[in-house]
Amino acid sequence: MAGELIISISGMRGIVGENLTPNIAVDFGCAFGTFLKRSAADKNKLAVCIGRDSRPSGQLLKSAVTAGLCAVGIDVVDLGLVTTPGVSIMTRHLSCAGAVVITASHNPIEYNGTKLLLGGGVAPPSDLAWQIRQMYFDKDFDLVGSVNAGKIATNDQTDAVHIEKILAIVEKRSIAERKFKVVLDSVNGAGGRVTKRLLGEFGCEVVAINDEPTGLFAHTPEPLAENLIGLCEQVKANAADLGFAQDPDADRLAIVDENGSYIGEEYSLALAAKYVFGKGAGRAATNLSTSRMIDDIAAAAGCQVIRTPVGEANVVDAMIKNDCIIGGEGNGGVIDLRVGPVRDSLVGIALVLQLMAQTSLTISELASQIPEYYMKKQKLAVDKAGAQRILDEAKKAFPKARIDTSDGCRFDFADGWLHLRTSNTEPVMRVITEAKDKQTAQKYIDLVLSICERVLD
Ligand code: MG
Repeated sequence: MAGELIISISGMRGIVGENLTPNIAVDFGCAFGTFLKRSAADKNKLAVCIGRDSRPSGQLLKSAVTAGLCAVGIDVVDLGLVTTPGVSIMTRHLSCAGAVVITASHNPIEYNGTKLLLGGGVAPPSDLAWQIRQMYFDKDFDLVGSVNAGKIATNDQTDAVHIEKILAIVEKRSIAERKFKVVLDSVNGAGGRVTKRLLGEFGCEVVAINDEPTGLFAHTPEPLAENLIGLCEQVKANAADLGFAQDPDADRLAIVDENGSYIGEEYSLALAAKYVFGKGAGRAATNLSTSRMIDDIAAAAGCQVIRTPVGEANVVDAMIKNDCIIGGEGNGGVIDLRVGPVRDSLVGIALVLQLMAQTSLTISELASQIPEYYMKKQKLAVDKAGAQRILDEAKKAFPKARIDTSDGCRFDFADGWLHLRTSNTEPVMRVITEAKDKQTAQKYIDLVLSICERVLD
């Protein structure tokens, strides 16, 4: 719930100076470090890398989490001000046992928090995340004495390693030949520095806005249409080929076309997948709440899409098990396992520019080739018992739909789909629907609302 300290499978998030204090961050570091030590096969000294986005509170929280890790005997590699995908890549590159990113992702400046990664740079699956959470609440820490306290080192190679990995999945020269003009809005987050460098490698003319990593966000940081009016205007004013927007930790990407129109976060994964499918990839994985666009693109290329419960760890797990190169989430989260096992806006940027270079089409032409859908998302205030009654009634109301119950209930119809899922952190049910047009999407929403009224009366 907004305003409360939330400790969930995605890590910790709270308001600095109110419910998120240095003491809490120290304990969280102790819990994560203890968890890593107890689960390590090799009991030798373990190292964890840590990075932060640009929020002004990042340094204090990084110091506090670092203190907690060192207190349980974990060595810490401080990566400084870097992106979340950058931290994931360095976790693998440095063979660290895990990582911590100090970020509240797309949330406003008053928030901060942590994202945890395990060895290999992957987000922990929910059972392990709950174990860490429980250790935090129980203060179940294996503190060490002075001689065994963890040591702190620094490493400034994150951007270089990240860019090298991305350049290995595209043809830099073919992108550079097009001399794209790009407007980049990094919302004064962690993405600006490394993304400008990557676009420079691609020979782009870059107009960077909000690129100082001050953490003083120039607009509400979630990369949604209503927050990117300035970017849309700059794309038009500069006659650019396209615009890119990142969230503060640079794992999400939104695209603006050459006419200055926001084309939506769902297109980031769809367009990236279009390029990768064209190269002969067999499968992709994405969550149940992501647009059908990727299914249409996959079908046209003779490829397959695997659907997973919502959550980055679930998508990555399915990608690894099914040998998928590409995957991600509809909120602008593109994952390419050749680069790293987390959502990465720089991967999205590279694959979209490569698609434009290869096809010689504009970004609006490429987007218009993908069948268009209308998506609507809504939250209903309902407790777990009420949510279950709604799910049961919905199953009766849609007997002909194809049903997936791996995460709440997803109903697939010929003309659209409906996904009902409860939140782990709030007493709400999320209702996501997508259809060929607004009226059809509204029809499904209205049906759920009428079930809700009937059941909760
Ligand atoms: Mg983020």
